[in-house]
Amino acid sequence: MEKRDKIYEGKAKILYTTDDPDLVIQYFKDEATAFDGKKKGIIEHKGVVNNRISERLFLMLGENGIHTHFVKRLNDREMLCKRLKIVQVEMIGRNVAAGSLAKRIGLDEGVTLPRPIVETYYKSDPLGDPMLCDEHIFMLELATPAQLEQMRETTRKINRLLTDFFVERRIRLVDFKVEYGMHKGELLLGDEICPDTCRLWDMDTSEKLDKDRFRRDLGKIEESYAEVARRVCGEI
Ligand code: UDP
Repeated sequence: MEKRDKIYEGKAKILYTTDDPDLVIQYFKDEATAFDGKKKGIIEHKGVVNNRISERLFLMLGENGIHTHFVKRLNDREMLCKRLKIVQVEMIGRNVAAGSLAKRIGLDEGVTLPRPIVETYYKSDPLGDPMLCDEHIFMLELATPAQLEQMRETTRKINRLLTDFFVERRIRLVDFKVEYGMHKGELLLGDEICPDTCRLWDMDTSEKLDKDRFRRDLGKIEESYAEVARRVCGEI
């Protein structure tokens, strides 16, 4: 597999084309951003850890019937993926009030929701990822009703699978973000799933083991990411 041109550089990852037009290489960086890019930093070793955690989670989801873009991990910081045309809607699954939900509707952080919910946001940096309702999504032609329905149902299933997987590792899945894209007419789960994109709390101590340690300057950032990697992948 030959790595070719850089096609996209985001906040945490770089995408490269390969000699196969259907495949791309996703490179994981150590850079971290928060608050729409206003806060910037480096989390040492994050790229390596997130590549490994994402690999394990994509494999687990794939074994359970979720179609993903993951092909294989190539090395410490790179994975081979199917090339997607990304749907510009971020899907957020939530089990416990935290972050923007707690703030927007006045719930105390840590309150378990009566049932899991799925929210939709516009994947748009200039607009600061605003929340969208279905009518907005159809008006902007970001997804068809059938695609949106499929993304919601898949996100609910992913939530159930991830929740059980993490419980076995004494981690509470508070919330998470996933993205989807089209590949040869099929909707696939894309992007990454890692402590940058999930809120993960230790079930015994309630300690945060995710990017909130960076957002809120809680310290022990690298240690927390390494702890998630240890529980999810074993020693790496
Ligand atoms: N999230 C993400 N990327 C985004 C927005 C949110 O990965 O652009 C994740 C975030 O890490 C958390 C979940 O989605 O696990 C819900 O985030 P929330 O809406 O509470 O926003 P935040 O507090 O991150 O601003």
